[in-house]
Amino acid sequence: MMIVLIGPPGAGKGTQGKRLEDKHGLKQLSTGDMLRAEVAAGTDLGKKAKSFLDSGNLVPDDVIVDMIADCIEQDDCRNGVIFDGFPRTVAQAKALDKMLAEKGRPLTAVIELTVDLKELVNRLQARIAQMKAAGQPIRTDDNEQTLINRLKVYREQTAPILPYYRDKGMLKAVDGMASIDDVSVMIDSILDAGNGSDHKARMGGPGR
Ligand code: AMP
Repeated sequence: MMIVLIGPPGAGKGTQGKRLEDKHGLKQLSTGDMLRAEVAAGTDLGKKAKSFLDSGNLVPDDVIVDMIADCIEQDDCRNGVIFDGFPRTVAQAKALDKMLAEKGRPLTAVIELTVDLKELVNRLQARIAQMKAAGQPIRTDDNEQTLINRLKVYREQTAPILPYYRDKGMLKAVDGMASIDDVSVMIDSILDAGNGSDHKARMGGPGR
């Protein structure tokens, strides 16, 4: 399975990606985590990426696409991949399509986690407060200013990939405001069905 998870920062892509990884033996490729690891290790890529991460702007497409191309060659991606935080631009989406077509491993599903913007800001602020209270290190891009920019970048640069996938009949929307367990159930139902493009997955069947 090759699955793309799309959603604004804080929508739950990381959490759901991890669940899918555990359940289906897939590899979760989080471009954000990969970039943060490069920054922490002080690599050339990390040095190049740091200012983009800190401001909440997107790292240039070619850097990201090369990074993903290297990863999906690895053995641990053999069973399949969950792309978490990638693609984030239409150019990245097109590059991914091309890459996967060359490998004969097309996307299985593109799942959008939809969330209300106000709820999102609350969630992200709660996460910062929680981490501060626990004395945990806070991501350098988890501050209010950057957060607002990340949401703006999502709306302006990432949201256009939704119609791109919708036009291909691949987009499935899931209510990301539901509980973590319920979101998992909805994602599983999409993957089990393997069809029904662009429907809004819901709990409890028709009528809800
Ligand atoms: P995330 O953890 O997915 O929210 O990503 C954190 C930061 O990493 C983003 O704000 C961007 O600066 C950068 N980043 C992650 N994924 C991508 C991507 N696919 N394209 C460009 N920049 C990215």
